Amino acid sequence: MSWETVIGLEIHAQLKTHSKIFSGAATTFGAEPNTQACIVDLGLPGVLPVLNNHAVVLAVRFGHAIQAKISKRSVFARKNYFYPDLPKGYQISQYEQPIVGTGQVKILLNDTSNKIIRITRAHLEEDAGKSLHEDYHGLTGIDLNRAGTPLLEIVSEPDLRSPQEASAYARKIHQIVQYLDICDGNMQEGSFRMDANVSIRPLGEPKLGTRTELKNLNSFRFLEKAIQFEVQRQVDLIESGGQVLQETRLYDPNQNITRPMRTKEEDYDYRYFPDPDLLPLEFDPEFINAAVADLPELPDVRCQRLQTAYKLSEYDADLLTSNRVLADYFEEVATICKNSKLAANWVMGELTAALNRNNLEISSSLVNAQALGELLLRIHDQTISGKIAKTVFDAMWQGKGNADQIIEAQGLHQVTDSNAIAQAVDQVIASCPTQVEQFRSGKDKVLGFLVGQVMKLTKGQANPKQVNELLRNKLR
Ligand code: ADP
Ligand code: MG
Repeated sequence: MSWETVIGLEIHAQLKTHSKIFSGAATTFGAEPNTQACIVDLGLPGVLPVLNNHAVVLAVRFGHAIQAKISKRSVFARKNYFYPDLPKGYQISQYEQPIVGTGQVKILLNDTSNKIIRITRAHLEEDAGKSLHEDYHGLTGIDLNRAGTPLLEIVSEPDLRSPQEASAYARKIHQIVQYLDICDGNMQEGSFRMDANVSIRPLGEPKLGTRTELKNLNSFRFLEKAIQFEVQRQVDLIESGGQVLQETRLYDPNQNITRPMRTKEEDYDYRYFPDPDLLPLEFDPEFINAAVADLPELPDVRCQRLQTAYKLSEYDADLLTSNRVLADYFEEVATICKNSKLAANWVMGELTAALNRNNLEISSSLVNAQALGELLLRIHDQTISGKIAKTVFDAMWQGKGNADQIIEAQGLHQVTDSNAIAQAVDQVIASCPTQVEQFRSGKDKVLGFLVGQVMKLTKGQANPKQVNELLRNKLR
């Protein structure tokens, strides 16, 4: 039997506000426990929440970016449950009337085709606090700094069909919130967390199977691996006569397995009701227009522009726009070196490799965009070969100066003096009689070897095109 995988994601993006969604306490990450929790976040009796206007603006911006309807009226609701890090006994969220309605995003699949993923809704809610199980001997600590931090929960339709599609979709949302600058996207700090709902069904079956929910995945790799494991677990279970239970499971990256956390609660368990402390939100068009007035260029538009303006493939443009800072970097390099293909190859090749080796983000690259642009200009105008440029790049990375200084200091200029090249060519012809004979008797491929010998002799500094021409002439 063939099975089809069905996945829907719920993503929590922490909104970039200075203060909490319903109080004035700060949202800065990493402060001493409970130093950023005020009486509202502690849920003391008699306190009242006051909505943070900026959180609303950021949610509206997101809705606009995914072509969603912004609800004219939306309502905050209490979601009731008991948890030690939720002192009020309920979380303020949105239920029947979320702020952002149905929208969509486009993802690029491995075979370079596109797929539209529908977004069901996005709503505002507050985060809970944190239980610290590891730091205190036999005790659990409660840190309420995170309580009341604004979250945007983005819920997709069950449109995803593989772990790769799920991760492409999650990356897309991650990219959009960062372009919009509404979330810092920091996954280690929990600013962007994903829950994956996973089910399987016989291929061709219209009805959805029973799903499990994999909670709080905080890397794209774990997201893929957790889904992979879970799909196999469900297939094995059903094929051996069992049934999938609707439940919440946790992924353990160390063992690469998922294990049950609790049976899935139903909506009615939460006793949702409109929060009587907060007025419904009602927008007039001016508010919405102002919120979306100065949106930055969004990833899809930028990807399209890079393809036309710089003649890049969709694949390259997609990679380069995966992150706004990377796209800015590329455009600066391409403009300076006047050769966009060269710029794209270097940014995605040499530069990315150097960043990975040093575990650095593009924003802290040791060679900045202007410096790389100047280096590539020297390939473009044939001062140096691509191979020599790699040596220069390494020296730049080590802080030995800019491209021109290094080329000058180390005498790396490409030799374009035809006399000098001719001498080297003669020398190689004299020392490789066998290969010369082979070439003359029609083995064209040997030319590559001879060119290589000349390049070696000139320490890579001869202009390869000239070497080629001279060799052919002399051997004829
Ligand atoms: P809840 O709020 O209880 O988690 P929702 O109905 O809002 O439930 O669905 C949450 C997510 O689960 C959505 O992303 C949705 O696409 C996904 N989903 C729902 N049913 C299935 C299913 N059978 N298989 C996979 N994903 C599903
Ligand atoms: Mg859910």
